[in-house]
Amino acid sequence: KNSQIENVLKQVEENNIEFIRIEFLDYAGVTRGRTIRKNRLRAAMEKGVNFSTAIMSFDVFDEYIPNPMYGANDGDFFAVPDPETFAILPYRKNTARMLCDLVDVDGSLWPGCPRGALKRLLKELETALGGKLYMAYEQEAYLLKEENGKRVPADNSHCFSSDGIDIQEEFIQSFVYSMEAMGVETEQISSEYGPGQVEVNLKYAPSLKATDDQVTFMHVFKQVARSQDLIGTLMPKPFSNLAGSGLHVHISLYNEEGDNLFKDITDQKGFDLSEEAYYFIGGLLKHARSLIAVGAPSANSYKRMQPGSWAPAHICYGSANRSVLVRIPEKRRERRFEFRGADGTCNPYLLTTCLLAAGLDGIKNKIEPGEPMDVDVSSLSEVELLEKGVNWVPRTLDEAMDALEEDTILAESIGREIWEEFIKVKRTESIKFTQYISDWELQVFSDRF
Ligand code: GLU
Ligand code: MG
Ligand code: MG
Repeated sequence: KNSQIENVLKQVEENNIEFIRIEFLDYAGVTRGRTIRKNRLRAAMEKGVNFSTAIMSFDVFDEYIPNPMYGANDGDFFAVPDPETFAILPYRKNTARMLCDLVDVDGSLWPGCPRGALKRLLKELETALGGKLYMAYEQEAYLLKEENGKRVPADNSHCFSSDGIDIQEEFIQSFVYSMEAMGVETEQISSEYGPGQVEVNLKYAPSLKATDDQVTFMHVFKQVARSQDLIGTLMPKPFSNLAGSGLHVHISLYNEEGDNLFKDITDQKGFDLSEEAYYFIGGLLKHARSLIAVGAPSANSYKRMQPGSWAPAHICYGSANRSVLVRIPEKRRERRFEFRGADGTCNPYLLTTCLLAAGLDGIKNKIEPGEPMDVDVSSLSEVELLEKGVNWVPRTLDEAMDALEEDTILAESIGREIWEEFIKVKRTESIKFTQYISDWELQVFSDRF
């Protein structure tokens, strides 16, 4: 660790860095932190920068939730920047960014720290599995502009069209260069289905790095858009009649020698997946409802997961089928699978932790995923769904939180403190959204009744 600290300080000198942003994510999935001057950096890396514990418990409106676990009298935690996350901001002069682990006054890991929860679980998991878990985050997002005070798609790009790419290329290239300058590699970029919608596939990386990279994405996307007078948003469903923006997570497992432990060409089901891979999927399906609570944790998230939208509306898995929750890509591609039930409003540390905990539960307890689905599930009737034993995903934020409240395995993996506080934050959000009366609602109801 000491040599890593010296190395960061050296980079700060060599690159004339004057300001360093110290960042972490709260339970609502918002990146928070503050900027320190370079002369404070050594102390920050050694001891941390203090924050009131209470700032973890804002809701999406930036208001304190009622009865937070951490109140005015609950003291501070210390944000310790991880040298591995040092990145120079390409769009700002003399400024760098570091992501933090949160520790207690005595230096031990603060139980409320989401990134710490992931690190703790990774240790257990990788010993149990004898391999290293890799992930690739794949985020969809919209570019919007403001017209007569209303937010609308920034352009008329069409799905995967070259015209669409041309229209969005200035933004895309500047976004990709910014990400690369910050040490995040991208693989593919598409003009997605919706007008103004794009998708960027990040290169797969060990789970912690992949999750940090997603945090970088969340911020840089909005910033690069802003610099081009656009509004970049990861909001799951900005328009009821247009495609939603999902966050898909690809998961794979490799041993030290680089062998893919999710691969087995003798697979009876014909997908070339190993037994571990199927058990992992079994775990994801068993915990599906609570995983969705963590991965798609906003009132708006549930407007995205509708049948026929290519976002998952049902709990099942399959290959070459984009209506399922867990998709196995075609055999020509490296063996892995994709969890499609998350979106850009999640705290990626909590999501990764829970995905891995669910998978580990599957492997430890040999949970069979059942039969894969090869039809478009959204075309099935309620009776057919029942016959096939396929359940719906939660249809509201509250339904999702009900599931998470019951899930003791996920509670243990992220820690009871985080679990409890996260649910409180999200219940508060849900109440506010349920109580809000939109112009549309007023129009319809006051007209009819
Ligand atoms: N937009 C869809 C979602 O919300 C996914 C479309 C795709 O498969 O790329 O998940
Ligand atoms: Mg897509
Ligand atoms: Mg995908």
